[in-house]
Amino acid sequence: MSIEKNKSWQFDNTYIKLPFSFYKKQLPTPISAPQVAVFNESLAKELGLAFLIGDNKRIAEELSGNLIPNGSDPIAQAYAGHQFGHFTMLGDGRAILLGEVLNSNGKRVDIQLKGAGQTPYSRRGDGRATLRSMLREYIISEAMHHLGIPTSRSLAVISTADPVYRQHVHSGAVLTRVMSSHIRVGTFEYARQFGSGEDLKALAAYTIERHYPSIANAENPAIELLRAILEKQTDLVLEWLRVGFIHGVMNTDNVGLACETYDYGPCAFMNAYHPKTVFSSIDTNGRYAFENQPFIAHWNVSVLAGALLPLIDDQQEKAIAIAQEVLNEFEPRFIDKYFEMMLGKIGLSGVSVANKEILSSLLQWMEKNEMDYTDTFYSLVNDSILEDSPSIKIANPDWYQRWESACENQAGGRTLAHELMKKSNPVFIPRNHAVEYALDMAESGNYQPFYELLNATSKPYEFNLLYRPLMRVPPQHDQQYVTYCGT
Ligand code: AMP
Ligand code: MG
Repeated sequence: MSIEKNKSWQFDNTYIKLPFSFYKKQLPTPISAPQVAVFNESLAKELGLAFLIGDNKRIAEELSGNLIPNGSDPIAQAYAGHQFGHFTMLGDGRAILLGEVLNSNGKRVDIQLKGAGQTPYSRRGDGRATLRSMLREYIISEAMHHLGIPTSRSLAVISTADPVYRQHVHSGAVLTRVMSSHIRVGTFEYARQFGSGEDLKALAAYTIERHYPSIANAENPAIELLRAILEKQTDLVLEWLRVGFIHGVMNTDNVGLACETYDYGPCAFMNAYHPKTVFSSIDTNGRYAFENQPFIAHWNVSVLAGALLPLIDDQQEKAIAIAQEVLNEFEPRFIDKYFEMMLGKIGLSGVSVANKEILSSLLQWMEKNEMDYTDTFYSLVNDSILEDSPSIKIANPDWYQRWESACENQAGGRTLAHELMKKSNPVFIPRNHAVEYALDMAESGNYQPFYELLNATSKPYEFNLLYRPLMRVPPQHDQQYVTYCGT
């Protein structure tokens, strides 16, 4: 028997069964000279696409949109969204959904080409993406996956000879994004604002069946959907806080109902700890700053609540009251889980006043001294690896002593502390300078640093001497570091 079960694509498309207003049929616009820049073999195997491995011509043709694989029924999805707090109509302006496939666990995922050409929702955009930004998305999304954080995945980047015009002329590319679905808070806003009551109902039923089948028979499925999203979004943002990730553009169109991280535009990882860190060129008011992310997630879920109101209750007043009650569950739940997560980073398991005080004095000290977020926590796991970073034991002995005795005095002692810290604190994250260097080199045709970074971040919790240089941040690097949308 052949090891490969599937020799060709096995699409099983369900989104196109929704009312027509949720999408427009749209073929990708071919690109010239498609070439495989990167291909994710292990993801291909997971998706039953092992037959593509080694066939670069086919990968380049099919994952650029030049050749439509059998069973694909390409569409651009309609959605709206609140961008920096303002409602607007959007839709897939440069992404085209090839269709859905079932992965090796029977889980349904979307296969989407990003940068595949104009669609009815492109407005004034060219439908294209730069090679640099697609490689950036590839590396950061894969790093997030290996950190254990729910995220879209990247299957391939296909480069083209067609130039892309932004402020300068760039090389272009198409990224294959794989995600549990592309249903967004913005999809619900679109249905509520521009669709009929039946459209909204169909979207909610579809979303529940696809992502939350256990609530389908609940007394009030819409309110249970809201609760599920509130909880999963909170958990997702807690994961970002754990690793120092700043999404950068948490608009409601970039918040998925499957609660995975996606839309890797102006995102970045924080080096020196500062709760107000922002890298995005357009986030001048710090709306999406590191520490604001949980509150923005709550705001975004409140927008979802607004869209769901007619499904929660026929009487608007009553629907608002019921939704508000669920939204009020956010704060106490977030605070509990925040301390549990952050105390895990310093190896303490009990959320007590004394432990919280140990945590907050560490964070204050880190902020004041601009300590590296990743290295400081990792130094509690293994001090000797970070021989050239300041050790907390020496730099802050008072705190260190208090912390050490709290670890020793807890049930489970130091062993438990070590276990907790090891799984909470990565040693390798895609550092901004390393990402930019890898991209500079890739743009000039040398992919070695790109693969090195990919390898280091594919085992983020294991120290590897080989990749030690990727942990060092050039002094002052982040002070000028700016990230961009829509590139
Ligand atoms: P984003 O900031 O990536 O969430 O994108 C916001 C909206 O702009 C979405 O509707 C995108 O499809 C659209 N968009 C971004 N870049 C382009 C482009 N180059 N051409 C057409 N639409 C775009
Ligand atoms: Mg987006």
